[in-house]
Amino acid sequence: MANDISFLTGINDPNLKMDKSGVENTGNYKVIHLVKTGTCYCPVCGRPMLKNGYRRQPVKILALPIANVPTILLIRKQKYICKPSSQCPETVTKIAEIINGINHGCRIANNVKQAITLDLRRNESQKDIGEQYYVSPSTVGRIIDSLEDNFTPEKSWLPNTIAFDDFKSGRFAPSGMSMILMNPVNHRTIDIIPSRTSRAFRQYFYRHFTRRSRLSVSLVVIDLYGPYRRLIRELFPNARIIADHFHVVVQAYRALQSIRIKTMNHYGPGTHEYRALKRFWKLLLQKLSLLDNIHYQPRRNFRGAWLTNSEVIDRLLAMSEELRIAYNYYQTLVDAVDHENQGELQSLLQRKLTSLPFKLQKVQRTLRQHQNEIIRSFRHHLSNGPIEGTNNKIKVIKRTAYGFRNFFHFRVRILMALKNPHIMVGDPQKTKISSSSLAA
Ligand SMILES: [Zn+2]
Repeated sequence: MANDISFLTGINDPNLKMDKSGVENTGNYKVIHLVKTGTCYCPVCGRPMLKNGYRRQPVKILALPIANVPTILLIRKQKYICKPSSQCPETVTKIAEIINGINHGCRIANNVKQAITLDLRRNESQKDIGEQYYVSPSTVGRIIDSLEDNFTPEKSWLPNTIAFDDFKSGRFAPSGMSMILMNPVNHRTIDIIPSRTSRAFRQYFYRHFTRRSRLSVSLVVIDLYGPYRRLIRELFPNARIIADHFHVVVQAYRALQSIRIKTMNHYGPGTHEYRALKRFWKLLLQKLSLLDNIHYQPRRNFRGAWLTNSEVIDRLLAMSEELRIAYNYYQTLVDAVDHENQGELQSLLQRKLTSLPFKLQKVQRTLRQHQNEIIRSFRHHLSNGPIEGTNNKIKVIKRTAYGFRNFFHFRVRILMALKNPHIMVGDPQKTKISSSSLAA
């Protein structure tokens, strides 16, 4: 019988028994009537206490829904008394307490909290998760609060290699941007730093990590944002900086896009050049090595001419010399980064500034400044690739998380949704029951 109760409720207490009324189906929910009794020892004298009736009000505990119907445990609790004696000067009374499954004073069974905790990794709002288990969003919030301690980074340890990237966090940060701190080797997210200002950044590391752990960092992967450099040298004196591949390529990507738009505007709306440049923008950004030069298709933008993708690019580039230069620059950079080709990168960065369109001159200067960091990234085969994937995940979490009132909830949910070094709460994929085991 006790096994049945543990099966139904997740509460493992040998002295919890089914009550006379058993299981009841009321209109909207199921009620499991239980009674908690058993021997109880006096906390003062240590002798078994006398049973003294039951608590007048049965205790109501929320359990996991059964067959999607909200389920309540109604538990009658034994009262105990120890009459005064030589060992026990005063009358002692007690009420039976449930062990293994419900925390003292809590009205929600532990397995409900565990189920909610598991669901927090999924991209559902607190309100939706709450509804699923018949608890309020603020109860879900309290469960998140209780998890926070589990996600505190260990003060005395940082991995040998760390990576940073920023993401839009909206109202949670004064600058609207927060930072992810990650281990790029095993792709685990170590923490979320609320703000990316230098001050917040410095404060965060001084507060959360010992000097020793900061000294143990030997590589830092980061974007090309200049102001961080000094800070990183201060916080991680033994670290060498590696430029993140994504941010290297993005520089030329943006310049190419803006030169394309400039060319469009040069021709003016309504012209065939304008329309073609607008229509084929994705093709311009496609890696040259992946560009199709085999399949012919009729192209409306070029009076129905049958052209391969590669020929379309030729026609687009013929529209503007600046565009052609920007395209070649972008493609060369992508290729150098993809193949971690130091020679190719160096010869690209040796191109004269004056030979480049204005927008690219700026890019060229930035990349030259960080040349060593980029080349270092080739040697270590490290990039923020995993962080970029993380960024997309965060974006999705933020979208469903319209209910986040505080940064800590936001942080815990991000860390739960991502691989993290703190707690691993099973695999997000729930166990699937095969049809054969159902048929058996
Ligand atoms: Zn006693």
